[in-house]
Amino acid sequence: MRYSLLRLVAQAFKGHRGWTPAWRDPAPKPSYDVIVIGGGGHGLATAYYLAKNHGIRNVALLEKSYIGSGNAGRNTTIIRSNYLLPGNEPFYEHSMKLWEGLEQDLNYNAMVSQRGVLNLFHSDAQRDAAARRGNAMRLCGVDAELLLTDDVRRMAPFLDFDNARFPIHGGLLQRRGGTARHDAVVWGFARAASDLGVDIIQDCEVTGFIRQAGRVVGVETSRGEIRAQKVGMAVAGSTSRLANLVDLKLPIESHVLQAFVSEAIKPLIPGVITFGAGHFYISQSDKGSLVFGGDLDGYNSYAQRGNLPTVEHVAEEGVAIMPLIGRVRMLRSWGGVMDMSMDGSPIIDHTPIEGLYLNTGWCYGGFKATPASGWCFAHLLARDEPHEVARAYKLDRFATGHLIDEKGQGAMPNLH
Ligand SMILES: Cc1cc2nc3c(=O)[nH]c(=O)nc-3n(C[C@H](O)[C@H](O)[C@H](O)COP(=O)(O)OP(=O)(O)OC[C@H]3O[C@@H](n4cnc5c(N)ncnc54)[C@H](O)[C@@H]3O)c2cc1C
Repeated sequence: MRYSLLRLVAQAFKGHRGWTPAWRDPAPKPSYDVIVIGGGGHGLATAYYLAKNHGIRNVALLEKSYIGSGNAGRNTTIIRSNYLLPGNEPFYEHSMKLWEGLEQDLNYNAMVSQRGVLNLFHSDAQRDAAARRGNAMRLCGVDAELLLTDDVRRMAPFLDFDNARFPIHGGLLQRRGGTARHDAVVWGFARAASDLGVDIIQDCEVTGFIRQAGRVVGVETSRGEIRAQKVGMAVAGSTSRLANLVDLKLPIESHVLQAFVSEAIKPLIPGVITFGAGHFYISQSDKGSLVFGGDLDGYNSYAQRGNLPTVEHVAEEGVAIMPLIGRVRMLRSWGGVMDMSMDGSPIIDHTPIEGLYLNTGWCYGGFKATPASGWCFAHLLARDEPHEVARAYKLDRFATGHLIDEKGQGAMPNLH
């Protein structure tokens, strides 16, 4: 059923009783061409592009809980393509272009809102680094603007410009960046994939892999065995657990990241603003809540909840950048389990085990990557070769030393 204004009006006359479910709820079949494990944004986008771009429709998407129950439904919804390194920039710009046409493509309102992403800087050295990043972006055809203090003051007069420790000297602005409603992205991909024939199977946990002559030929699940020619993993923070089932050791650590939402206030924040002297980012939802987050909790965990010291730390950063936030009440917070790679960049590649493919290492930043991640993972699964914008995301780069260390912090997953 296509969504449109006419359809809405027609349904209004019928008391909205004629809407069909957004996606089918099929029982698993004994076998498929491809199984994608993980019903987050990345898994669903992969299943959708397998069907749409490659005509591979005999696909099962297996999710242990409900779709969007992982990081896809827990993030702070920021999308941007302001990357520095050649391994990253074309990939994230590809993603940004897909975001720009996503709602028409999926026929679903994902509330993609290009309100701008502004990264503040607080010292001369940081300004030079921002100028360098902006220049690198523009060389790749991506929009970037270097703003000085007065420009930022006009955009966001409520910031603490003359803070003694962190005076604001300006910011790097990507106007095409912004936010998208995370769970609508999940639902939109699910509906579009299901329409093309993909079986979306919820409450179906993968508990083991079926192997024949070393090759993966299917999975064991809480709903029985399911066979497939190819199996792709897109399970974010659960990657190392799942890989353990097939004795695969990966350069991934799982860490908790928290997000916070305040009570709703009148429109205040024009886009996304990030603090340059700490890890703090904030935007305002359409309902009026301030949506913000900070750093990882700082220890390895598979729990989808965080600890109080990080709540205090993030609140302090918020007050340092915009003191008025001290008068706003915090409503909710939650945690997600991040798949932190050793260089802060993702992996989209074969594993050393035939028939098994890997999509992981998204760290803090995989929401913005959702469309391109699905596009490139589908390409790899369908053609057995990497997509050109994801060529650098190889698993063996940690052995060969071809790291993509966007932050220049070395093999410190807790800092990426
Ligand atoms: C608090 C927070 C804020 C963030 N903010 C941003 C942001 O502003 N911008 C940005 O770009 N990124 C952000 N991220 C990161 C982003 O959310 C993730 O990188 C991205 O969502 C990960 O991909 P995914 O959506 O496929 O993962 P998930 O949604 O976690 O999907 C993985 C799925 O696999 C399922 N699964 C696990 N094990 C199994 C199994 N054995 N069998 C079957 N299914 C299984 C899980 O239940 C889960 O649904 C944030 C993350 C968090 C937690």
